[in-house]
Amino acid sequence: MPLVSMRQLLDEAAKGGYGVGAFNVNNMEQIQSIMEAARETQSPVIIQASRGARAYSQDRFLYHLMLAATEIYPEIPTVLHLDHGNSPETCQSAIEMGFTSVMMDGSLMPDGKTPSTFEYNVEATRKVVEMAHAKGVTVEGEIGCLGGIEDGHGAGLDGLSHLTDPEQAVEFVKATGVDALAIAIGTSHGAYKFTSKPTGETLKMDRLIEIHKKLPNTHLVMHGSSSVPKDLQDIINQYGGKLKPTWGVPVEEIQLGIKNGVRKINVDTDNRLAITGAIRKVFMEKPEEFDPRSYLKPARDAMKKVVALRMTQFGQAGHAKDYAPTSLDEMAKRYQSETVTA
Ligand SMILES: [Zn+2]
Repeated sequence: MPLVSMRQLLDEAAKGGYGVGAFNVNNMEQIQSIMEAARETQSPVIIQASRGARAYSQDRFLYHLMLAATEIYPEIPTVLHLDHGNSPETCQSAIEMGFTSVMMDGSLMPDGKTPSTFEYNVEATRKVVEMAHAKGVTVEGEIGCLGGIEDGHGAGLDGLSHLTDPEQAVEFVKATGVDALAIAIGTSHGAYKFTSKPTGETLKMDRLIEIHKKLPNTHLVMHGSSSVPKDLQDIINQYGGKLKPTWGVPVEEIQLGIKNGVRKINVDTDNRLAITGAIRKVFMEKPEEFDPRSYLKPARDAMKKVVALRMTQFGQAGHAKDYAPTSLDEMAKRYQSETVTA
């Protein structure tokens, strides 16, 4: 099947009461890890590429790898999503290439660093919604600013500086017509999210629940939601790495989010840790190896294991064949007739 609409995937997830992991990719091995995990667990898939990933892979490579994924895994509904589009132009170029979903992150200015105004955010996001929905493409917006900086994107603030205001979230969804909404509740991009296990003071799940109560029909998105498990950190450090102690978002908090409207969960760091740990292990244990496959295969397996575990924990496992995918043309017609609304 061709790449599918993210809106449909999230609507189905809402019906089924589960969440869908959105995993970042830069290369063939990462795409293969995710698709193998999806086949093993029978999960629908969201694969996302940031601007950094598009630059790294000269995104046509990435796009054609994704087409290969749909040919090799025809039974798995698969979305290709743009992570943190910084401007309507970036979103437009992704849509033209064939991404089936885009994020317009108007919470920051196009430099990807400076927090913007509410008015700017509404205007930029509404523009993208208009352009994307005309082609049946899904749009994720963001209100409030995430912490940290990753791939050169982020305000570099701690996760609590610009939490999402629930009233503003309601106004934003109404004014823009987004399909999904990323909210800031204390999470950050990167490996160093929390300096100790997060509490209600640092990870504001109560804020998320409040937003869900006001927007019960909006698909919420948790960014920066790797769990940064200690066993993955330990493997890296055991084989010569130097990670400082750090904490991510506990899986049970994500599961609480899923009970309260979270349908998309962004995970990147956990996969990076798994890959790096596996490669370090081969380098330390078999220094005579020099065939890249000798370390890329274990790296691919390590990432697949993490992704399959998250797919099971988020509840998407077993749901790949629940529904027939709707074409983007059909989605465009539905947006036009407003049978699909925010
Ligand atoms: Zn993000």
